[in-house]
Amino acid sequence: MNTEQICPCGSRKKYQYCCGLYLSGKEIPKTAVQLMRSRYTAFCQGDIDYLIATYHPDKRTKNDRQKIANSIKNTTWLGLNIIDTSQDRKNQAIAYVEFVAIFKVNEIQQLHERSKFIKANGKWFYLEGEILPDLVPKRNDNCWCGSGKKYKKCHGNQI
Ligand SMILES: [Zn+2]
Ligand SMILES: [Zn+2]
Repeated sequence: MNTEQICPCGSRKKYQYCCGLYLSGKEIPKTAVQLMRSRYTAFCQGDIDYLIATYHPDKRTKNDRQKIANSIKNTTWLGLNIIDTSQDRKNQAIAYVEFVAIFKVNEIQQLHERSKFIKANGKWFYLEGEILPDLVPKRNDNCWCGSGKKYKKCHGNQI
């Protein structure tokens, strides 16, 4: 990827100053949100090694590489919106990031997820995710799909 390009993660920063720092191994993400964004970018770019390296070692299985490869092959990622981030009240090494990722498999869909991240030996890892119901905007708000149209004129049309 051209490092001068805008990063796919939605930060509006150049790739080389955003997720490119982490995918290239120059730096490690300092926050769970940085890790989340960089994993999204890794999905966009098909960087399977990065996705496995940032997945918590306890959660890895033999099939991960194949599963990720299949998902990357079938999915076009179209955008990421971070909705909320929070830290566990009792344990500073646990953080949550709620996001909507827009993707296309046959048709445009959203993945609304609350991901759990854990810091171990100074590094953040993705632990697991809870899938949430699709985000439904108000009728006159912008549609979740990024079309720029009002929800009622776009994906809210059929409801
Ligand atoms: Zn980025
Ligand atoms: Zn829409």
